[in-house]
Amino acid sequence: MFRSHTCGELRIEDIGCDVVLSGWIQTVRDLGSIAFADLRDRYGITQLYFNESIHAQLVSTPIGREFVVQAKGKVIERTNKNSKIPTGSIEIELSDFEVLNSSSTPPFTIEDDTDGGDELRMKYRYLDLRRPVLRKNLELRYRVNRSVRNYLDTQGFWDIETPFLIRSTPEGARDFVVPSRMNEGQFYALPQSPQTFKQLLMVSGYDRYYQIVKCFRDEDLRADRQPEFTQVDCEMSFVEQEDILQTFEGLFKHVFYDVKGVRIEDSFPRITWDDAMWFYGNDKPDIRFGMQIANLKTPVYNTTVTDALGWDVFGFSVFDNAQTVLAIAATGCAEYTRKQVDELTEWVKRPQIGMSGLVYIRCNADGSFKSSVDKFFSEDQLKVIAAKCGAAAGDLVLLLAGNETRTRKAMSELRLEMGNRLGFRDASVYKPLWVIDFPLFEHDEENDVWLARHHPFTSPKPEHISLMDDRSQYGKIKANAYDIVLNGTEIGGGSIRIYHRDLQEKMFAALGLSKEESQDKFGFLLGAFEYGAPPHGGIAFGFDRLCALLGGQETIRDFIAFPKNNAGRDVMLDAPSAIDDAQKKELGL
Ligand code: ASP
Repeated sequence: MFRSHTCGELRIEDIGCDVVLSGWIQTVRDLGSIAFADLRDRYGITQLYFNESIHAQLVSTPIGREFVVQAKGKVIERTNKNSKIPTGSIEIELSDFEVLNSSSTPPFTIEDDTDGGDELRMKYRYLDLRRPVLRKNLELRYRVNRSVRNYLDTQGFWDIETPFLIRSTPEGARDFVVPSRMNEGQFYALPQSPQTFKQLLMVSGYDRYYQIVKCFRDEDLRADRQPEFTQVDCEMSFVEQEDILQTFEGLFKHVFYDVKGVRIEDSFPRITWDDAMWFYGNDKPDIRFGMQIANLKTPVYNTTVTDALGWDVFGFSVFDNAQTVLAIAATGCAEYTRKQVDELTEWVKRPQIGMSGLVYIRCNADGSFKSSVDKFFSEDQLKVIAAKCGAAAGDLVLLLAGNETRTRKAMSELRLEMGNRLGFRDASVYKPLWVIDFPLFEHDEENDVWLARHHPFTSPKPEHISLMDDRSQYGKIKANAYDIVLNGTEIGGGSIRIYHRDLQEKMFAALGLSKEESQDKFGFLLGAFEYGAPPHGGIAFGFDRLCALLGGQETIRDFIAFPKNNAGRDVMLDAPSAIDDAQKKELGL
Protein backbone atom coordinates (compact mmCIF):
# COMPACT_ATOMS: atom_id res chain seq x y z
CA MET A 1 0.00 0.00 0.00
CA PHE A 2 1.60 3.24 -1.11
CA ARG A 3 -0.53 5.42 1.11
CA SER A 4 -3.21 5.33 3.76
CA HIS A 5 -4.03 9.03 3.41
CA THR A 6 -3.34 11.92 1.05
CA CYS A 7 -1.14 14.87 1.92
CA GLY A 8 -4.13 17.15 2.35
CA GLU A 9 -6.18 15.02 4.64
CA LEU A 10 -4.86 14.71 8.18
CA ARG A 11 -6.15 16.93 10.97
CA ILE A 12 -5.83 17.34 14.72
CA GLU A 13 -8.45 14.56 15.22
CA ASP A 14 -6.04 12.10 13.59
CA ILE A 15 -3.38 12.47 16.26
CA GLY A 16 -2.02 9.11 17.28
CA CYS A 17 -2.86 7.36 13.99
CA ASP A 18 -0.25 5.38 12.11
CA VAL A 19 -0.22 6.59 8.52
CA VAL A 20 1.56 6.13 5.22
CA LEU A 21 1.85 9.08 2.83
CA SER A 22 3.38 9.30 -0.62
CA GLY A 23 4.22 12.43 -2.53
CA TRP A 24 6.85 14.90 -3.69
CA ILE A 25 9.32 16.67 -1.44
CA GLN A 26 8.70 20.39 -1.58
CA THR A 27 11.39 21.48 0.91
CA VAL A 28 13.77 19.93 3.42
CA ARG A 29 14.99 21.80 6.49
CA ASP A 30 17.84 19.85 8.04
CA LEU A 31 18.65 21.16 11.51
CA GLY A 32 21.59 18.82 12.11
CA SER A 33 20.17 16.21 14.43
CA ILE A 34 16.55 16.46 13.38
CA ALA A 35 14.92 17.57 10.12
CA PHE A 36 11.59 18.65 8.66
CA ALA A 37 10.28 18.23 5.14
CA ASP A 38 7.11 19.23 3.33
CA LEU A 39 5.49 16.43 1.38
CA ARG A 40 3.14 17.51 -1.42
CA ASP A 41 0.56 15.78 -3.59
CA ARG A 42 -2.55 16.92 -5.50
CA TYR A 43 -4.47 17.23 -2.25
CA GLY A 44 -2.13 19.37 -0.17
CA ILE A 45 1.02 19.51 1.90
CA THR A 46 1.89 17.67 5.11
CA GLN A 47 4.94 18.29 7.28
CA LEU A 48 7.23 15.34 7.95
CA TYR A 49 9.30 15.26 11.13
CA PHE A 50 12.55 13.27 11.14
CA ASN A 51 13.39 12.73 14.82
CA GLU A 52 16.88 11.96 16.01
CA SER A 53 16.62 8.22 15.48
CA ILE A 54 15.41 8.48 11.86
CA HIS A 55 17.74 11.36 11.04
CA ALA A 56 20.64 8.92 10.54
CA GLN A 57 18.64 7.32 7.72
CA LEU A 58 18.28 10.74 6.15
CA VAL A 59 22.02 11.17 6.23
CA SER A 60 22.58 7.86 4.42
CA THR A 61 19.61 8.38 2.04
CA PRO A 62 19.47 12.09 1.32
CA ILE A 63 16.28 13.48 -0.17
CA GLY A 64 15.92 16.66 -2.18
CA ARG A 65 13.34 18.80 -3.91
CA GLU A 66 10.85 16.85 -6.01
CA PHE A 67 12.04 13.42 -4.84
CA VAL A 68 9.13 11.00 -4.68
CA VAL A 69 9.00 9.67 -1.15
CA GLN A 70 6.91 7.25 0.82
CA ALA A 71 6.73 8.23 4.48
CA LYS A 72 5.50 6.07 7.38
CA GLY A 73 4.86 7.36 10.86
CA LYS A 74 2.51 8.63 13.52
CA VAL A 75 0.38 11.78 13.40
CA ILE A 76 1.46 14.15 16.18
CA GLU A 77 0.51 17.69 17.15
CA ARG A 78 2.76 20.38 15.76
CA THR A 79 4.41 22.82 18.14
CA ASN A 80 4.61 25.63 15.59
CA LYS A 81 1.22 25.46 13.93
CA ASN A 82 0.72 26.83 10.43
CA SER A 83 -2.78 28.26 10.14
CA LYS A 84 -2.35 28.86 6.40
CA ILE A 85 -2.72 25.22 5.43
CA PRO A 86 -5.47 22.77 6.45
CA THR A 87 -2.96 20.22 7.74
CA GLY A 88 -1.05 22.92 9.64
CA SER A 89 -1.84 21.63 13.13
CA ILE A 90 -0.22 18.25 12.70
CA GLU A 91 2.95 16.60 11.43
CA ILE A 92 4.06 13.02 10.86
CA GLU A 93 6.78 11.73 13.18
CA LEU A 94 8.51 9.31 10.86
CA SER A 95 9.37 5.74 11.70
CA ASP A 96 10.55 4.94 8.20
CA PHE A 97 10.74 6.42 4.74
CA GLU A 98 11.66 5.24 1.29
CA VAL A 99 12.77 7.14 -1.76
CA LEU A 100 10.53 5.87 -4.58
CA ASN A 101 12.29 8.03 -7.14
CA SER A 102 14.91 10.73 -7.12
CA SER A 103 14.65 14.01 -9.02
CA SER A 104 17.04 16.33 -10.78
CA THR A 105 16.95 19.86 -9.41
CA PRO A 106 13.85 21.39 -11.02
CA PRO A 107 14.54 24.36 -13.32
CA PHE A 108 12.25 26.58 -11.25
CA THR A 109 10.70 26.47 -7.81
CA ILE A 110 7.48 24.50 -7.64
CA GLU A 111 5.56 27.04 -5.62
CA ASP A 112 2.75 29.49 -6.30
CA ASP A 113 5.21 32.36 -6.60
CA THR A 114 7.72 30.70 -8.83
CA ASP A 115 10.97 32.10 -10.15
CA GLY A 116 10.35 30.44 -13.55
CA GLY A 117 9.61 32.60 -16.60
CA ASP A 118 6.74 31.76 -18.95
CA GLU A 119 8.71 29.89 -21.61
CA LEU A 120 10.59 27.83 -19.04
CA ARG A 121 7.38 26.87 -17.28
CA MET A 122 5.80 25.91 -20.61
CA LYS A 123 8.80 23.77 -21.54
CA TYR A 124 8.48 21.89 -18.25
CA ARG A 125 4.71 22.08 -18.10
CA TYR A 126 4.53 18.76 -16.20
CA LEU A 127 6.44 20.46 -13.38
CA ASP A 128 4.51 23.69 -13.70
CA LEU A 129 1.30 21.71 -13.25
CA ARG A 130 2.55 20.56 -9.85
CA ARG A 131 2.23 24.14 -8.59
CA PRO A 132 -0.82 24.53 -6.34
CA VAL A 133 -2.16 27.54 -8.32
CA LEU A 134 -2.35 25.54 -11.51
CA ARG A 135 -3.72 22.54 -9.69
CA LYS A 136 -6.51 24.75 -8.38
CA ASN A 137 -7.23 26.08 -11.87
CA LEU A 138 -7.54 22.60 -13.34
CA GLU A 139 -9.74 21.53 -10.45
CA LEU A 140 -11.99 24.51 -11.12
CA ARG A 141 -12.08 23.59 -14.79
CA TYR A 142 -13.15 20.08 -13.92
CA ARG A 143 -15.87 21.42 -11.60
CA VAL A 144 -17.22 23.80 -14.23
CA ASN A 145 -17.25 20.96 -16.75
CA ARG A 146 -19.18 18.71 -14.37
CA SER A 147 -21.58 21.48 -13.42
CA VAL A 148 -22.34 22.29 -17.08
CA ARG A 149 -22.95 18.61 -17.82
CA ASN A 150 -25.20 18.16 -14.80
CA TYR A 151 -27.35 21.14 -15.75
CA LEU A 152 -27.64 20.20 -19.41
CA ASP A 153 -28.52 16.66 -18.40
CA THR A 154 -31.43 17.92 -16.28
CA GLN A 155 -32.62 19.88 -19.31
CA GLY A 156 -32.67 16.82 -21.56
CA PHE A 157 -29.55 17.59 -23.61
CA TRP A 158 -27.58 14.70 -25.08
CA ASP A 159 -23.84 14.78 -25.56
CA ILE A 160 -23.21 13.65 -29.14
CA GLU A 161 -19.73 13.59 -30.66
CA THR A 162 -19.04 15.03 -34.09
CA PRO A 163 -15.99 14.39 -36.29
CA PHE A 164 -12.71 16.31 -36.31
CA LEU A 165 -11.66 15.39 -39.85
CA ILE A 166 -14.14 17.36 -41.90
CA ARG A 167 -14.54 19.96 -44.62
CA SER A 168 -14.09 23.59 -43.81
CA THR A 169 -16.69 25.26 -41.53
CA PRO A 170 -16.81 28.99 -42.10
CA GLU A 171 -16.60 30.67 -38.69
CA GLY A 172 -14.50 33.53 -39.93
CA ALA A 173 -11.03 32.16 -39.30
CA ARG A 174 -8.52 30.17 -41.34
CA ASP A 175 -8.78 26.39 -41.21
CA PHE A 176 -6.13 24.01 -40.02
CA VAL A 177 -5.85 21.35 -42.68
CA VAL A 178 -4.78 17.72 -42.58
CA PRO A 179 -3.48 15.99 -45.72
CA SER A 180 -5.21 12.76 -46.61
CA ARG A 181 -2.86 9.86 -47.41
CA MET A 182 -5.62 7.73 -48.90
CA ASN A 183 -6.91 10.56 -51.06
CA GLU A 184 -3.72 12.02 -52.38
CA GLY A 185 -3.72 15.77 -52.94
CA GLN A 186 -6.83 16.22 -50.82
CA PHE A 187 -7.18 17.68 -47.37
CA TYR A 188 -9.47 17.51 -44.40
CA ALA A 189 -10.09 20.64 -42.38
CA LEU A 190 -10.28 20.61 -38.59
CA PRO A 191 -13.60 22.07 -37.37
CA GLN A 192 -13.66 25.73 -36.34
CA SER A 193 -16.76 24.56 -34.47
CA PRO A 194 -19.24 21.71 -34.94
CA GLN A 195 -21.72 24.25 -36.38
CA THR A 196 -23.01 22.39 -39.43
CA PHE A 197 -23.03 19.03 -37.65
CA LYS A 198 -25.17 20.28 -34.81
CA GLN A 199 -27.59 21.70 -37.34
CA LEU A 200 -27.69 18.36 -39.15
CA LEU A 201 -28.41 16.66 -35.82
CA MET A 202 -31.45 18.93 -35.52
CA VAL A 203 -32.56 17.80 -38.98
CA SER A 204 -32.14 14.22 -37.69
CA GLY A 205 -34.43 15.01 -34.78
CA TYR A 206 -31.79 15.00 -32.00
CA ASP A 207 -33.29 18.03 -30.40
CA ARG A 208 -31.19 19.35 -27.50
CA TYR A 209 -27.60 18.46 -28.33
CA TYR A 210 -24.47 19.54 -26.55
CA GLN A 211 -20.80 18.80 -26.59
CA ILE A 212 -17.79 20.09 -24.66
CA VAL A 213 -15.57 20.04 -27.66
CA LYS A 214 -12.27 21.17 -29.15
CA CYS A 215 -12.44 23.78 -31.91
CA PHE A 216 -9.53 24.73 -34.15
CA ARG A 217 -8.94 28.16 -35.65
CA ASP A 218 -5.79 29.24 -37.42
CA GLU A 219 -5.82 32.86 -36.31
CA ASP A 220 -2.99 35.21 -35.55
CA LEU A 221 -2.85 34.74 -31.83
CA ARG A 222 -3.74 37.93 -30.11
CA ALA A 223 -2.71 38.10 -26.49
CA ASP A 224 -4.99 35.45 -25.12
CA ARG A 225 -6.09 33.10 -27.87
CA GLN A 226 -5.26 29.48 -28.44
CA PRO A 227 -5.29 27.73 -31.84
CA GLU A 228 -7.21 24.87 -30.25
CA PHE A 229 -9.72 25.77 -27.60
CA THR A 230 -12.77 24.26 -25.95
CA GLN A 231 -16.38 25.22 -26.50
CA VAL A 232 -19.58 24.18 -24.80
CA ASP A 233 -21.53 23.76 -28.02
CA CYS A 234 -25.33 23.51 -27.88
CA GLU A 235 -28.28 23.37 -30.27
CA MET A 236 -32.06 23.08 -29.76
CA SER A 237 -35.04 22.58 -32.05
CA PHE A 238 -38.49 24.15 -31.99
CA VAL A 239 -37.20 27.16 -30.12
CA GLU A 240 -37.26 30.90 -30.41
CA GLN A 241 -34.53 33.21 -29.19
CA GLU A 242 -36.34 33.60 -25.87
CA ASP A 243 -36.20 29.84 -25.17
CA ILE A 244 -32.47 29.82 -25.73
CA LEU A 245 -31.78 32.87 -23.59
CA GLN A 246 -33.82 31.38 -20.73
CA THR A 247 -32.24 27.94 -20.95
CA PHE A 248 -28.70 29.26 -20.93
CA GLU A 249 -29.31 31.94 -18.38
CA GLY A 250 -30.34 28.97 -16.25
CA LEU A 251 -27.08 27.25 -17.05
CA PHE A 252 -25.00 30.23 -15.99
CA LYS A 253 -26.94 30.71 -12.79
CA HIS A 254 -26.47 27.03 -12.03
CA VAL A 255 -22.73 27.13 -12.69
CA PHE A 256 -22.14 30.36 -10.75
CA TYR A 257 -23.90 28.90 -7.75
CA ASP A 258 -22.48 25.41 -8.05
CA VAL A 259 -18.88 26.46 -8.57
CA LYS A 260 -18.64 29.84 -6.87
CA GLY A 261 -21.55 29.86 -4.44
CA VAL A 262 -22.73 33.06 -6.13
CA ARG A 263 -26.49 33.23 -6.43
CA ILE A 264 -27.83 35.52 -9.16
CA GLU A 265 -31.57 35.91 -8.65
CA ASP A 266 -32.40 38.56 -11.22
CA SER A 267 -32.75 37.99 -14.93
CA PHE A 268 -29.63 38.96 -16.83
CA PRO A 269 -29.94 42.45 -18.29
CA ARG A 270 -30.36 42.62 -22.06
CA ILE A 271 -29.04 45.36 -24.25
CA THR A 272 -29.31 45.72 -28.00
CA TRP A 273 -26.15 45.76 -30.04
CA ASP A 274 -26.91 49.34 -31.09
CA ASP A 275 -27.21 50.50 -27.49
CA ALA A 276 -24.08 48.62 -26.44
CA MET A 277 -22.09 50.46 -29.10
CA TRP A 278 -23.81 53.71 -28.20
CA PHE A 279 -23.33 53.64 -24.43
CA TYR A 280 -20.19 51.57 -24.07
CA GLY A 281 -18.41 51.90 -27.41
CA ASN A 282 -18.17 48.12 -27.83
CA ASP A 283 -20.38 45.06 -28.04
CA LYS A 284 -19.18 43.47 -24.80
CA PRO A 285 -19.94 46.06 -22.17
CA ASP A 286 -18.53 45.77 -18.69
CA ILE A 287 -21.53 46.71 -16.58
CA ARG A 288 -19.83 46.34 -13.21
CA PHE A 289 -19.76 50.13 -13.29
CA GLY A 290 -21.68 52.98 -14.92
CA MET A 291 -19.81 55.84 -16.55
CA GLN A 292 -21.77 55.41 -19.77
CA ILE A 293 -20.73 57.28 -22.85
CA ALA A 294 -22.58 60.46 -23.81
CA ASN A 295 -22.76 60.89 -27.58
CA LEU A 296 -22.43 64.64 -27.97
CA LYS A 297 -21.96 64.49 -31.70
CA THR A 298 -22.04 61.43 -33.94
CA PRO A 299 -23.06 60.39 -37.43
CA VAL A 300 -24.31 57.06 -36.07
CA TYR A 301 -27.99 56.46 -35.97
CA ASN A 302 -29.53 55.17 -32.76
CA THR A 303 -33.22 54.43 -32.80
CA THR A 304 -33.85 54.58 -29.09
CA VAL A 305 -31.66 57.34 -27.72
CA THR A 306 -30.38 60.69 -28.81
CA ASP A 307 -28.07 62.39 -26.43
CA ALA A 308 -26.43 64.66 -29.01
CA LEU A 309 -26.22 68.24 -27.81
CA GLY A 310 -27.89 69.53 -30.94
CA TRP A 311 -25.48 72.44 -31.12
CA ASP A 312 -24.91 73.34 -34.77
CA VAL A 313 -21.47 74.64 -34.02
CA PHE A 314 -19.39 74.15 -30.94
CA GLY A 315 -17.22 77.17 -31.73
CA PHE A 316 -14.24 74.96 -31.00
CA SER A 317 -12.61 73.77 -34.18
CA VAL A 318 -11.46 70.42 -32.77
CA PHE A 319 -15.06 69.48 -32.05
CA ASP A 320 -16.49 71.20 -35.13
CA ASN A 321 -14.12 69.36 -37.44
CA ALA A 322 -14.62 66.00 -35.75
CA GLN A 323 -17.10 63.40 -36.92
CA THR A 324 -17.73 62.35 -33.35
CA VAL A 325 -17.50 63.88 -29.87
CA LEU A 326 -17.93 61.51 -26.93
CA ALA A 327 -17.76 62.06 -23.18
CA ILE A 328 -17.73 60.13 -19.92
CA ALA A 329 -17.83 61.33 -16.34
CA ALA A 330 -15.01 59.76 -14.34
CA THR A 331 -16.42 59.29 -10.86
CA GLY A 332 -14.82 61.47 -8.20
CA CYS A 333 -11.83 62.52 -10.31
CA ALA A 334 -12.41 66.30 -10.36
CA GLU A 335 -9.40 66.76 -8.14
CA TYR A 336 -7.01 65.01 -10.48
CA THR A 337 -3.75 66.93 -10.48
CA ARG A 338 -2.35 68.53 -13.60
CA LYS A 339 0.18 65.72 -13.70
CA GLN A 340 -2.51 63.04 -13.58
CA VAL A 341 -4.48 64.71 -16.38
CA ASP A 342 -1.32 65.05 -18.48
CA GLU A 343 -0.56 61.40 -17.94
CA LEU A 344 -4.08 60.45 -19.02
CA THR A 345 -3.66 62.64 -22.11
CA GLU A 346 -0.47 60.76 -22.97
CA TRP A 347 -2.40 57.53 -22.42
CA VAL A 348 -5.02 58.40 -25.07
CA LYS A 349 -2.26 59.51 -27.44
CA ARG A 350 -0.53 56.13 -27.37
CA PRO A 351 -0.61 54.47 -30.80
CA GLN A 352 -2.91 51.69 -29.51
CA ILE A 353 -5.52 54.32 -28.64
CA GLY A 354 -4.59 56.78 -31.35
CA MET A 355 -6.30 60.00 -30.23
CA SER A 356 -4.69 63.39 -30.70
CA GLY A 357 -5.74 64.81 -27.37
CA LEU A 358 -8.04 64.76 -24.36
CA VAL A 359 -10.40 67.52 -23.24
CA TYR A 360 -11.57 67.61 -19.64
CA ILE A 361 -14.10 69.43 -17.49
CA ARG A 362 -13.68 69.49 -13.73
CA CYS A 363 -17.06 69.45 -12.01
CA ASN A 364 -15.89 70.98 -8.77
CA ALA A 365 -17.46 70.16 -5.43
CA ASP A 366 -18.52 73.79 -5.02
CA GLY A 367 -20.66 73.56 -8.18
CA SER A 368 -18.25 75.45 -10.45
CA PHE A 369 -16.87 74.06 -13.72
CA LYS A 370 -13.35 74.44 -14.99
CA SER A 371 -12.07 72.92 -18.21
CA SER A 372 -9.13 72.67 -20.54
CA VAL A 373 -11.25 74.49 -23.14
CA ASP A 374 -12.44 77.47 -21.08
CA LYS A 375 -11.49 79.73 -23.97
CA PHE A 376 -14.21 78.23 -26.15
CA PHE A 377 -17.02 77.34 -23.77
CA SER A 378 -18.96 79.35 -21.23
CA GLU A 379 -19.49 77.80 -17.80
CA ASP A 380 -23.16 77.26 -18.74
CA GLN A 381 -22.15 75.27 -21.77
CA LEU A 382 -19.77 73.17 -19.69
CA LYS A 383 -22.63 72.55 -17.32
CA VAL A 384 -24.84 71.28 -20.18
CA ILE A 385 -22.11 68.92 -21.38
CA ALA A 386 -21.54 67.63 -17.84
CA ALA A 387 -25.26 67.06 -17.41
CA LYS A 388 -25.38 65.02 -20.66
CA CYS A 389 -22.97 62.51 -19.22
CA GLY A 390 -24.63 62.45 -15.86
CA ALA A 391 -21.65 64.00 -14.08
CA ALA A 392 -22.04 64.76 -10.40
CA ALA A 393 -20.11 67.34 -8.39
CA GLY A 394 -16.65 65.88 -7.89
CA ASP A 395 -16.51 64.11 -11.26
CA LEU A 396 -14.10 64.75 -14.09
CA VAL A 397 -15.68 64.77 -17.57
CA LEU A 398 -13.35 63.36 -20.22
CA LEU A 399 -14.02 64.16 -23.88
CA LEU A 400 -12.59 62.66 -27.04
CA ALA A 401 -13.20 63.89 -30.56
CA GLY A 402 -12.30 62.53 -33.99
CA ASN A 403 -13.20 59.88 -36.51
CA GLU A 404 -16.29 57.87 -35.50
CA THR A 405 -14.86 54.36 -35.37
CA ARG A 406 -11.58 55.31 -33.75
CA THR A 407 -13.10 57.70 -31.23
CA ARG A 408 -15.76 55.23 -30.16
CA LYS A 409 -13.15 52.55 -29.69
CA ALA A 410 -10.84 54.92 -27.82
CA MET A 411 -13.65 56.04 -25.52
CA SER A 412 -14.52 52.45 -24.81
CA GLU A 413 -10.88 51.81 -23.83
CA LEU A 414 -10.68 54.98 -21.76
CA ARG A 415 -13.83 54.04 -19.88
CA LEU A 416 -12.37 50.61 -19.04
CA GLU A 417 -9.04 52.14 -18.07
CA MET A 418 -10.76 54.56 -15.70
CA GLY A 419 -12.82 51.65 -14.37
CA ASN A 420 -9.54 49.86 -13.58
CA ARG A 421 -7.94 52.90 -12.01
CA LEU A 422 -11.00 53.53 -9.87
CA GLY A 423 -11.18 49.90 -8.73
CA PHE A 424 -14.60 49.35 -10.32
CA ARG A 425 -13.61 46.14 -12.09
CA ASP A 426 -13.56 43.74 -9.16
CA ALA A 427 -12.93 40.18 -10.40
CA SER A 428 -15.05 38.71 -7.60
CA VAL A 429 -18.18 40.53 -8.85
CA TYR A 430 -20.08 38.79 -11.66
CA LYS A 431 -22.20 40.92 -13.97
CA PRO A 432 -23.45 38.90 -16.92
CA LEU A 433 -25.67 40.34 -19.63
CA TRP A 434 -27.07 39.47 -23.04
CA VAL A 435 -26.28 41.57 -26.07
CA ILE A 436 -29.05 40.98 -28.61
CA ASP A 437 -30.16 42.14 -32.05
CA PHE A 438 -26.77 41.94 -33.72
CA PRO A 439 -26.49 43.08 -37.31
CA LEU A 440 -26.63 40.15 -39.74
CA PHE A 441 -23.77 41.45 -41.85
CA GLU A 442 -20.70 43.54 -41.46
CA HIS A 443 -19.12 45.49 -44.25
CA ASP A 444 -15.52 44.85 -45.18
CA GLU A 445 -14.52 48.34 -46.36
CA GLU A 446 -11.24 47.26 -47.87
CA ASN A 447 -12.71 44.71 -50.26
CA ASP A 448 -16.23 46.17 -50.38
CA VAL A 449 -17.86 42.89 -49.51
CA TRP A 450 -20.44 41.95 -46.91
CA LEU A 451 -19.45 39.32 -44.39
CA ALA A 452 -21.60 37.34 -41.99
CA ARG A 453 -21.16 38.93 -38.59
CA HIS A 454 -21.88 35.69 -36.75
CA HIS A 455 -21.78 32.98 -39.43
CA PRO A 456 -23.66 32.29 -42.67
CA PHE A 457 -26.24 30.05 -40.99
CA THR A 458 -27.67 32.83 -38.85
CA SER A 459 -31.17 33.88 -39.80
CA PRO A 460 -32.16 37.49 -40.42
CA LYS A 461 -35.01 38.68 -38.23
CA PRO A 462 -38.19 37.61 -40.09
CA GLU A 463 -39.23 41.24 -40.57
CA HIS A 464 -35.89 42.00 -42.23
CA ILE A 465 -35.87 39.11 -44.70
CA SER A 466 -37.28 41.32 -47.46
CA LEU A 467 -34.25 43.64 -47.12
CA MET A 468 -32.07 40.76 -48.32
CA ASP A 469 -33.09 41.63 -51.89
CA ASP A 470 -31.44 45.04 -51.78
CA ARG A 471 -27.71 45.24 -51.15
CA SER A 472 -27.97 48.88 -50.11
CA GLN A 473 -30.08 47.76 -47.15
CA TYR A 474 -27.71 45.07 -45.83
CA GLY A 475 -26.39 47.33 -43.10
CA LYS A 476 -29.87 47.62 -41.61
CA ILE A 477 -30.63 43.91 -41.37
CA LYS A 478 -30.65 42.60 -37.83
CA ALA A 479 -30.46 38.97 -36.75
CA ASN A 480 -31.77 36.98 -33.86
CA ALA A 481 -28.18 36.63 -32.79
CA TYR A 482 -27.01 37.08 -29.23
CA ASP A 483 -23.86 37.09 -27.16
CA ILE A 484 -23.49 36.45 -23.50
CA VAL A 485 -21.03 38.85 -21.92
CA LEU A 486 -19.46 38.57 -18.49
CA ASN A 487 -17.51 41.45 -16.94
CA GLY A 488 -16.59 42.95 -20.29
CA THR A 489 -15.69 39.67 -21.96
CA GLU A 490 -17.74 37.85 -24.57
CA ILE A 491 -18.06 34.32 -23.29
CA GLY A 492 -20.53 32.92 -25.76
CA GLY A 493 -22.71 33.59 -28.70
CA GLY A 494 -25.27 32.02 -30.95
CA SER A 495 -28.25 32.58 -33.14
CA ILE A 496 -31.54 31.37 -34.52
CA ARG A 497 -30.66 29.57 -37.74
CA ILE A 498 -31.88 29.58 -41.28
CA TYR A 499 -33.73 26.32 -41.96
CA HIS A 500 -35.13 26.82 -45.46
CA ARG A 501 -33.03 26.04 -48.49
CA ASP A 502 -34.03 29.14 -50.44
CA LEU A 503 -33.17 31.55 -47.63
CA GLN A 504 -29.85 29.78 -47.03
CA GLU A 505 -29.07 30.09 -50.75
CA LYS A 506 -29.96 33.76 -50.64
CA MET A 507 -27.61 34.22 -47.69
CA PHE A 508 -24.74 32.48 -49.48
CA ALA A 509 -25.41 34.67 -52.52
CA ALA A 510 -25.36 37.81 -50.36
CA LEU A 511 -21.95 36.73 -49.09
CA GLY A 512 -20.70 36.51 -52.65
CA LEU A 513 -20.86 32.74 -53.18
CA SER A 514 -22.00 31.59 -56.60
CA LYS A 515 -24.68 28.89 -56.84
CA GLU A 516 -22.00 26.37 -57.79
CA GLU A 517 -19.75 27.35 -54.89
CA SER A 518 -22.55 27.07 -52.35
CA GLN A 519 -23.53 23.71 -53.78
CA ASP A 520 -19.93 22.53 -53.76
CA LYS A 521 -19.20 23.66 -50.20
CA PHE A 522 -22.56 23.30 -48.50
CA GLY A 523 -24.50 20.92 -50.71
CA PHE A 524 -24.90 18.56 -47.72
CA LEU A 525 -26.61 21.24 -45.63
CA LEU A 526 -28.75 22.62 -48.46
CA GLY A 527 -29.75 19.06 -49.26
CA ALA A 528 -30.65 18.35 -45.63
CA PHE A 529 -32.87 21.43 -45.58
CA GLU A 530 -35.00 19.73 -48.25
CA TYR A 531 -35.94 16.89 -45.94
CA GLY A 532 -37.89 18.56 -43.20
CA ALA A 533 -35.46 20.73 -41.23
CA PRO A 534 -37.10 21.98 -38.02
CA PRO A 535 -36.79 25.56 -36.78
CA HIS A 536 -33.69 25.58 -34.59
CA GLY A 537 -31.09 27.70 -32.90
CA GLY A 538 -28.17 27.39 -30.55
CA ILE A 539 -25.25 28.86 -28.77
CA ALA A 540 -21.65 28.07 -27.91
CA PHE A 541 -19.54 29.18 -24.95
CA GLY A 542 -15.81 29.56 -24.73
CA PHE A 543 -15.12 27.06 -21.98
CA ASP A 544 -11.51 28.08 -21.29
CA ARG A 545 -12.49 31.73 -20.92
CA LEU A 546 -15.44 30.93 -18.68
CA CYS A 547 -13.12 28.97 -16.38
CA ALA A 548 -10.56 31.80 -16.32
CA LEU A 549 -13.27 34.31 -15.39
CA LEU A 550 -14.63 32.05 -12.68
CA GLY A 551 -11.06 31.70 -11.45
CA GLY A 552 -10.87 35.49 -11.30
CA GLN A 553 -8.08 35.60 -13.88
CA GLU A 554 -7.67 37.07 -17.30
CA THR A 555 -5.56 34.58 -19.19
CA ILE A 556 -6.97 31.28 -20.38
CA ARG A 557 -3.55 29.67 -20.67
CA ASP A 558 -3.31 28.75 -17.03
CA PHE A 559 -6.66 26.97 -17.22
CA ILE A 560 -5.50 24.62 -19.99
CA ALA A 561 -3.29 21.69 -19.02
CA PHE A 562 -1.07 21.84 -22.10
CA PRO A 563 -1.50 25.18 -23.89
CA LYS A 564 0.37 26.69 -26.81
CA ASN A 565 2.41 29.88 -26.53
CA ASN A 566 1.61 33.14 -28.32
CA ALA A 567 3.31 31.94 -31.47
CA GLY A 568 1.06 28.87 -31.52
CA ARG A 569 3.90 26.59 -30.42
CA ASP A 570 3.88 23.79 -27.92
CA VAL A 571 7.33 24.49 -26.46
CA MET A 572 7.34 21.26 -24.48
CA LEU A 573 6.81 19.06 -27.55
CA ASP A 574 8.53 21.54 -29.83
CA ALA A 575 5.55 21.41 -32.16
CA PRO A 576 4.83 22.15 -34.91
CA SER A 577 7.88 20.46 -36.40
CA ALA A 578 9.19 19.41 -39.78
CA ILE A 579 8.28 15.95 -41.02
CA ASP A 580 10.66 13.73 -42.94
CA ASP A 581 10.67 13.35 -46.70
CA ALA A 582 9.30 9.82 -46.66
CA GLN A 583 6.28 10.98 -44.67
CA LYS A 584 5.77 13.90 -47.05
CA LYS A 585 5.96 11.63 -50.04
CA GLU A 586 3.43 9.26 -48.58
CA LEU A 587 1.09 12.20 -48.10
CA GLY A 588 1.67 13.39 -51.65
CA LEU A 589 3.12 16.70 -50.46
N1 ASP B 1 -20.71 27.99 -33.88
C1 ASP B 1 -20.82 29.27 -33.28
C2 ASP B 1 -19.47 29.76 -32.81
O1 ASP B 1 -18.55 28.96 -32.68
C3 ASP B 1 -21.76 29.32 -32.13
C4 ASP B 1 -23.18 29.10 -32.52
O2 ASP B 1 -23.69 29.81 -33.38
O3 ASP B 1 -23.79 28.22 -31.91
O4 ASP B 1 -19.30 30.92 -32.52
